[in-house]
Amino acid sequence: MDIYSDIKYIVGVGPKMAEALNKCGIYNVLDLLLYFPRDYEQVSAGKSILECVESEKVIVECNVLNILKDLRLKNNKTLSTIVFTQGENKFKGKWFNQTYAKNSFKISNNYIITGKVNKFNGEITMMNPKIVKNTSMDTTNSIDTNNSVDTNKIIATYPLKNNVTNNFFNKIISDVLCNIEITEILPKWILEKYGFCSLDDATRNIHSPKSLELLNQSKRRLKFQELFTYSLKILMLKEFIKSHNEGIQFKIAPELTTLKGKLPYELTKAQSKVVREILIDQKKDKGMNRLLQGDVGSGKTIVAIITMFNVVKNGYQAAMMAPTEILAKQHYEEIQKVLKDFPLTIQLLCGSTSPKDKELIKRQLKEGTIDIIIGTHALIEDNVEFKNIGMIVTDEQHRFGVSQRNRFSNKGKNVDILVMTATPIPRTLSLYLYGDLDVSIIDELPPGRQTIDTSYESMDSSKKVYEFALNEIKKGRQVYIVCPLVEENEEMNLTSVQELYEKLKEGYFSSIEIGMVYGKVPSKQKNEIMDRFKAGEIKVLIATTVIEVGVNVPNATVMIIENSERFGLAQLHQLRGRVGRGVHKSYCILLANIKNKIVKKRLEVLIKSNDGFFIAEEDLKNRGAGELFGFKQSGESGLLLADVIEDFNILKLANSEAKQLLQSDNIEDIKVKNEILEKIDQSSNYICFN
Ligand code: ADP
Ligand code: MG
Repeated sequence: MDIYSDIKYIVGVGPKMAEALNKCGIYNVLDLLLYFPRDYEQVSAGKSILECVESEKVIVECNVLNILKDLRLKNNKTLSTIVFTQGENKFKGKWFNQTYAKNSFKISNNYIITGKVNKFNGEITMMNPKIVKNTSMDTTNSIDTNNSVDTNKIIATYPLKNNVTNNFFNKIISDVLCNIEITEILPKWILEKYGFCSLDDATRNIHSPKSLELLNQSKRRLKFQELFTYSLKILMLKEFIKSHNEGIQFKIAPELTTLKGKLPYELTKAQSKVVREILIDQKKDKGMNRLLQGDVGSGKTIVAIITMFNVVKNGYQAAMMAPTEILAKQHYEEIQKVLKDFPLTIQLLCGSTSPKDKELIKRQLKEGTIDIIIGTHALIEDNVEFKNIGMIVTDEQHRFGVSQRNRFSNKGKNVDILVMTATPIPRTLSLYLYGDLDVSIIDELPPGRQTIDTSYESMDSSKKVYEFALNEIKKGRQVYIVCPLVEENEEMNLTSVQELYEKLKEGYFSSIEIGMVYGKVPSKQKNEIMDRFKAGEIKVLIATTVIEVGVNVPNATVMIIENSERFGLAQLHQLRGRVGRGVHKSYCILLANIKNKIVKKRLEVLIKSNDGFFIAEEDLKNRGAGELFGFKQSGESGLLLADVIEDFNILKLANSEAKQLLQSDNIEDIKVKNEILEKIDQSSNYICFN
């Protein structure tokens, strides 16, 4: 077995399970090892079942003494019972109508199980116990024959779905760890300088920690490695761009003047300045690599349109990629409107484009008959080729990973690259994250924008808030309601999109048209709902953050955010930017647990300020409450463990060591560098340590 072995070769993984794991994104051993735990449960040493109190939810270690015959009860229920022992003590596990549950247990085997304790007449039972771990199979964690629990155990819990149980997952991970040795990748001098444990140890301890201390050491090392590789990649890219930076020398097309006269509005000073900066880049014989930052609603799209137009008028093609179909479609409509007087061929390519149209568009792109293409990730597929692409724009670039960005850029030779974001990343941080880019900033909103009336309300006042929304709808306006993403097994008191939709459809909004969009809704349906919302047919749109980026519906004036303490400030600010885009007075209402002083204080930043940069700085200052503050780059950036803000100090160190390594002419270092380079290239999906 090696890290690239298919998971179906792991003992116990049948075809069905392999399929379920594939659905979690796990195809080979490496994917499995990179599927990091969400959390850990600690089994306290020597916690005896006798010490547990009535109704307590516990994790205990025990042994199976006997599996009793199922009992058919009068009320048509079936009762299954297992007798467990823990040292001298006995207790029963019971299940109603789950006759299969007992099949996971074997007599005389040891398990760590969890469940709620019932104590009645001196008899102890646990209802519906679940296996956390089968400890009999696990040699490293074996327990004494006399069954006393004598070790502290930390058990990983994974964010699983599709019927993959935590117990099973832990089991295959420990099987894999028994059969594999992971080779070190970091140079020795780094390991020594920071006292890092080996990659092999770190991988073992992040999945199956021997102690809290080892777990923390492992996390620190893996985060460093991730950010080190990330930095190496950014720095190498910068180096590469410097040395290979031949660009296309575009002219300033005379038609630009015509276009200027036909724009639907006058550009703001800041927009004109940025257009100029980009045109200057285009005139140079060097390639452009520019990051355009501008708050929500500052008008970045038009800047992209104007500069893409110039490229097209020079005889080249231009492409623009957005993170969601909703957004791509919106850009497509906007660009058609702005450039309607010019005979250009503009097309849209998304995941939901029909196969027939896709084929046609791809052919036309290759033949060069399409001038401008707008699209989603569909644009970075391998078989999308251009005849002569001259400029590539990535919108909301923080939603894409470095490797996706690169794959997009590699669609052409010497192309000009513009990436745009509304996330105001403080300078100090952007230097490390986007070291390969020049930065332009739009620091002014178009005239006539009103400030959005922002307030918070406690979750119990939602009635008042919905009534207010209803009132606005009566005036002809529209409303967004945003809910946090709720994971299947989250037990907290959170409202999910579906729940709220049902509730409101039957309650407050029973007489009006409401719609719902979230990640899992198929894109065709999503588009339909968005179209109907834009057309004003749907009055209330209930959504997750899929609407966070860029959506533009000027008639929408109310943004209600449920459980707003779950979002980062920068994210809330982005959401707020969905309203206040038209002539009507707009409102943003943050529903939150404002009895909590910290929550209240944080939200006050938004009430006081409308400046995205200020809000981002405050967010950065107030961090410490972990995920509460959102902005986790994982997933999108390819970072699986590290968080660029929380782990900023590690990022700084990693960046400086990466520079050191790149400059080194020590043979060992060159070897390490090449190995990392090769691995980065091999599988661009992870920037992490593959
Ligand atoms: P973002 O920077 O968030 O991507 P958009 O490009 O979507 O912002 O622009 C937001 C809205 O502002 C759009 O409806 C756009 O047409 C409008 N807009 C952009 N620039 C101006 C301007 N100079 N004057 C008036 N409206 C503008
Ligand atoms: Mg935008």
